Amino acid sequence: MSDFDVVIAGSGVAGSMTGLLCAEYGFKTLIIEKRKIPRHKPCNGMLWPSAVEIIEKYIGKLPEEIICTPQKYDGLKVVGKTGILEISSGVINVWRKNLDYWMGRKSIEAGAELIDSANLVGMGEKDKEIIIEVKKGNKKEKISAKFLIGADGDTSSVRRYLNPHLEEKLRFVLMRHYEGEICLKGDDDFCGVNMNYFYFFPNPAFSLRYGFLQIKDGYIIIGTNHTDRSIIEAISNFERFLKKHYSFKPQKLMFSLGCYRTSLSFKEIKIGSKRIVLIGDAVLLRNAFNEGIGPSLLTAICAVKAIEESVNRELPLVETYRTYLDMISGKILKSKEMGEKIISEMRISGKFDAEQFGKMAGSLLW
Ligand SMILES: Cc1cc2nc3c(=O)[nH]c(=O)nc-3n(C[C@H](O)[C@H](O)[C@H](O)COP(=O)(O)OP(=O)(O)OC[C@H]3O[C@@H](n4cnc5c(N)ncnc54)[C@H](O)[C@@H]3O)c2cc1C
Repeated sequence: MSDFDVVIAGSGVAGSMTGLLCAEYGFKTLIIEKRKIPRHKPCNGMLWPSAVEIIEKYIGKLPEEIICTPQKYDGLKVVGKTGILEISSGVINVWRKNLDYWMGRKSIEAGAELIDSANLVGMGEKDKEIIIEVKKGNKKEKISAKFLIGADGDTSSVRRYLNPHLEEKLRFVLMRHYEGEICLKGDDDFCGVNMNYFYFFPNPAFSLRYGFLQIKDGYIIIGTNHTDRSIIEAISNFERFLKKHYSFKPQKLMFSLGCYRTSLSFKEIKIGSKRIVLIGDAVLLRNAFNEGIGPSLLTAICAVKAIEESVNRELPLVETYRTYLDMISGKILKSKEMGEKIISEMRISGKFDAEQFGKMAGSLLW
């Protein structure tokens, strides 16, 4: 008999949601998380209304203490050279460290086991089970399970196991959290920040996609993405830009966070096998502007339904999971395409045709 029905690699939002649902179905469930938790996660921590709806439906009301100041952003501003595109929506503002920790605790309350500082380092499929190799400190251990869920993020090793021949390029995202000052002059001019908005700067001078700026619990948070070799130069250029145009005066760098992002896309990867499925960032489904929390939660729900049907109705796991993903992926991918279009046009021409945007957007963004 296998040690577990389901082992989940990763205790981010996708892994924790899966752990909770699997435990509620009565599956013997283990989540392994390679970091010590609670852990910081490079993320802007914006919860779109659709993500909040899923969390409240399946887990419960977001506790006050994980919500930051400002509690809500009124929306996003994409700042081009000659125009600013404003996209309005109430987006709840949290620290990912606290959100993920709260969700992890909820999965434990539901009956899942969660072990942190435990790294999935190997896996091998047999006919009736999967053997998972876990390293905790200097100790390696083998665990057997009927199913393995890869919820191990953007550079997933479970995805690499399933897709050994796909070549991926990685870019680096670096976020810096400062104490300091910035011009809080107000709205739509090019020299004042409204702290109730999240700012994108799709500027080739300091990013491969866009730089970003937000204010959270008094920190001025800035970030950008580039190749790992050029990231320090890129963020220095971004800081110079903010000093010049927004009177940014950094006083103390409180902490930095970084991570790699893959060049692979949902359409080109294998999403699972007889006993494995990928969810969350590992399966690479994200909305416009890289909103990934909502899609991660949806993929978790799809994966647990597919496992339940595989166990109770003997349906094939990946095919069933694919059918569920097909129901959600069209809208997510269209939304991502639209976000990419906005970012590219703002990078190239400095502005975006807002009328055309209105026609395209519909309900896609939120
Ligand atoms: C800079 C940035 C800003 C973002 N801002 C937003 C935002 O504001 N709103 C939004 O909706 N989305 C945002 N996203 C996207 C969002 O963060 C992701 O879509 C979301 O975190 C995916 O959740 P996940 O659980 O799949 O992965 P993750 O949150 O990355 O969790 C994966 C977990 O797996 C663990 N892990 C990795 N490898 C192993 C292993 N071998 N063994 C065990 N554990 C392992 C990791 O330590 C991690 O805890 C942002 C992304 C970035 C990079």
